[in-house]
Amino acid sequence: MDRRTYNKLVDDLIKYSDSYYKANISLISDQQFDFMLKQAEQIEKEHPDWLRLDSPTQTPGSDIVNFDKSNVHDHPMLSLENTYNEDDVTKWYQKMEEVTGPNPEVVVECKFDGTSASIHFSHGKVIKALTRGSGIVGEDITMNVLSMDEFYFIKSTFNGECRGEMIMSKDEFKRLNQDNKYANARNLTSGTIKLLDVEEFKKRNLWFYAYWLEDSKNLRHSDDLELLKKMGFRTGKYYLCHSLKEVLDAIGDIEKIKSELPIEIDGAVMKLNEKRYWEELGSTAKYPRYAKAYKYQQESCETKVLSVDFQVGRSGKITPVASLEPVFIDGSTISRATLNNVEFLKQIDVRVDDIVYIEKAAAIIPKIIGVNLEKRDPKSFMVIPPTKCPECGSELTKKGDRVDLFCPNDKCPGRIIDKISYYTHILEIDGFGDEVIERLHYLGYLNSICDLYTLKDKREILICLDRFGEKSIDKLLNNIEESKSLPAEKLLAALGIKGIGVKIAKIIMKKHQTIDEIRNLSFDDLAQIDGIGVIKASDVKHELEKEETISLIESLKQFGVNMVATKNETYENSSIKDKSFCITGALSMSRKDYELLIEKNGGKNVSGVTSKTSYLVTNDKTSGSNKNKKAQELGIAIIDENELRKMLNLD
Ligand code: AMP
Ligand code: ZN
Repeated sequence: MDRRTYNKLVDDLIKYSDSYYKANISLISDQQFDFMLKQAEQIEKEHPDWLRLDSPTQTPGSDIVNFDKSNVHDHPMLSLENTYNEDDVTKWYQKMEEVTGPNPEVVVECKFDGTSASIHFSHGKVIKALTRGSGIVGEDITMNVLSMDEFYFIKSTFNGECRGEMIMSKDEFKRLNQDNKYANARNLTSGTIKLLDVEEFKKRNLWFYAYWLEDSKNLRHSDDLELLKKMGFRTGKYYLCHSLKEVLDAIGDIEKIKSELPIEIDGAVMKLNEKRYWEELGSTAKYPRYAKAYKYQQESCETKVLSVDFQVGRSGKITPVASLEPVFIDGSTISRATLNNVEFLKQIDVRVDDIVYIEKAAAIIPKIIGVNLEKRDPKSFMVIPPTKCPECGSELTKKGDRVDLFCPNDKCPGRIIDKISYYTHILEIDGFGDEVIERLHYLGYLNSICDLYTLKDKREILICLDRFGEKSIDKLLNNIEESKSLPAEKLLAALGIKGIGVKIAKIIMKKHQTIDEIRNLSFDDLAQIDGIGVIKASDVKHELEKEETISLIESLKQFGVNMVATKNETYENSSIKDKSFCITGALSMSRKDYELLIEKNGGKNVSGVTSKTSYLVTNDKTSGSNKNKKAQELGIAIIDENELRKMLNLD
């Protein structure tokens, strides 16, 4: 590490911090920011003489844009140290124990994802309100705060300062963001509190969650929270914990319920309850040591569109895809996002150089969910969908009244490459990237799925592709060979037959033994299969009868590819055969593992509770979650992890 690299890191951090706090734009995810901040902290520890006073490690990020309105805080308003992992929580708790003795009491609160404010009251009336600003001085927002209904009923006995979070409810955000102009409620809240037009401010209905009472005589922080509530403030749910386990459970619980709350929560805050230790623990210039924030993985952020391209899928469908300036989100770096179809592209009107909001949520492929129109170059142009296939030049067509555009050419290289890529992906034939498939196709060695099985005679070609050495060729060829003996339910999914994805393939192959049996199914047989139904059945039948599908299956047989399904012997006697399970909340083993075991025993997994669900699995049987409520309404059995383990014969 040299000094130039450190300086560049600090410059970048300042750029990101200013953009976040002053312009309300997240150029990178919070997690990436915190990671870079930790790096800077580490370097500063190793090279104290390099330390820059403007380093974002030294002060809370400042949101001050209007210095005329700045005002000094009575006491500094610090930030919180963030972490994303349980190890750090453990370390923090142990550090507290060093000062307090074993098992200190800790309050775990929701970390409200808004923007903090300090509000002064006299006889229950607002007299001054400031943003956090630089932590030392804040910006005056008194006029706006005076207009908030929130504070009409504060007890007239209250004189003093209260700190908390200004926040916009999810519903209010939805109402104000119908044109997807804002990335999230937090950004809009920060923009809102500083509005100069009080009427406009009032229309946006901000809420204030109090989490701090200044100069209180109480000895415990939880008593302050109770007092705030009694005085008429809105306060959040909190947990009083007496062990590390209880702290971790509370953090897990908040994550579990957060989607059901009316406001956005981006983490949990732990605070040592006994205030007498706080002074001894002290603080850095940036945060106090008696508290720490645990942040949940973030799911959306902003980035810039570099280009919009049109991809041809295996069915011929054209999908607009945006290339993005890489961003780190939810544990991985994203550089591409789908725009679904040309109709969606038209609606959302994404343009090159636009700043867009992307979301990873539960989806594997990140999605663009909106455009920041304030940041748009007024001279930009709409992206016009092509009329000809970008791969083979065929005139694109529409099917019936569907909005999608299709390349009708069966020999289209784009379609063939995607088919092969899908096959290798589903059968987990590792060692191929899409470019390798592309190059082999353009060289004429990979024109269909079956050609994969001829590659073993073409080592001399593979060796010419610069990415391959002898060892990686061995591995690749071995993986291709192994794919021949995979169970037929995998093969059926990998064929890319429209209407038969991974899930449906599994369901079909549970009832039938071979791929040939599937080919002989009648329309009625197909329609009765769970997940296909009457509407899709004719599509699937049509696909199975296509010349192309038949010859593909026949050729694969010639190459010795297995066409027989695995039979799980335990099914027949399994007590959970055909029963469906919806698992929710934290369990001692991963949810994925339980789901696999349920499937292995002939059961089914579902993501939501409906009248057809057999069991809701949760360790918190009495929680007020939507799933619990629904299960109770519908009279569906609610079981806990132990009961599930018994059904699976695990204990
Ligand atoms: P950060 O925004 O990452 O600097 O995190 C620190 C901020 O979290 C504080 O300045 C508060 O605005 C905010 N915060 C949200 N909920 C709480 C809470 N329950 N207790 C303390 N701070 C909170
Ligand atoms: Zn084409």
